[in-house]
Amino acid sequence: MAEITLKNIVKRYGDGYPAVNDVSLEIKDGEFMILVGPSGCGKSTLLRMIVGLEDITSGELRIGGKVVNKVAPRERNLAMVFQNYALYPHLTVFENIAFPLRLAKTPEDEVQRRVKETAELLELTDHLDRKPANLSGGQRQRVAMGRAIVREADAFLFDEPLSNLDAKLRGQMRTEISRLQRRLGVTTVYVTHDQTEAMTLGDRVAVLRKGVLQQVGSPRELYEQP
Ligand code: ADP
Ligand code: ADP
Repeated sequence: MAEITLKNIVKRYGDGYPAVNDVSLEIKDGEFMILVGPSGCGKSTLLRMIVGLEDITSGELRIGGKVVNKVAPRERNLAMVFQNYALYPHLTVFENIAFPLRLAKTPEDEVQRRVKETAELLELTDHLDRKPANLSGGQRQRVAMGRAIVREADAFLFDEPLSNLDAKLRGQMRTEISRLQRRLGVTTVYVTHDQTEAMTLGDRVAVLRKGVLQQVGSPRELYEQP
């Protein structure tokens, strides 16, 4: 687990207006932070800089106290969940979840143990032999989360993970993500443009507008102002 600290982070694409403009934010160890704002406000860019998929123009990014501006994505030990589940269609649920462990050449007995524990947590135990095509949308989303969780990453990063689901499933998955995050206590950054998610999921909400951080506070502070 790790805290994530952004100090005066700027991202410029070309010479226009910065996509992310002098953002400073401290995400505490174990905290569930929501990044919310309209389309184009810089949420994904900020998340991609944290993961390391985008260079930082200026400012300092620390994960677990260490400056990681120049650290490659694979050395950051973060797990990202995308909105398109990015599951491998030809692999079973077991192998989809096991994938990052296979890449890391984890010993087989440990792979078995960790995948089974993860599947139990996500109620996927009965589906381990299935292929993604034979799963419901919610189950597929859980497999994608399983792949993130199994790595025992220092933090979870979610990029609008529920936007492809119907309203009912979205509600269900909101509850599950919230339960799982509390149970695991892993630092989480969750990007959304959905106010309901912003109000219900996180410990704190950071509101971005045109690349500028406008407000940070608990959902209560932000949404129940007198
Ligand atoms: P959000 O995730 O909030 O929708 P983004 O981070 O995707 O916003 O985009 C923020 C701004 O940066 C937008 O104006 C977008 O057009 C611009 N942008 C994002 N990615 C690129 C890119 N690769 N090249 C140029 N501009 C980009
Ligand atoms: P390469 O140039 O060899 O593809 P990169 O530094 O671009 O290497 O990143 C690839 C590695 O970083 C992947 O093996 C993966 O483990 C990790 N990685 C990349 N993107 C993400 C992400 N969104 N979430 C978690 N890990 C990622």
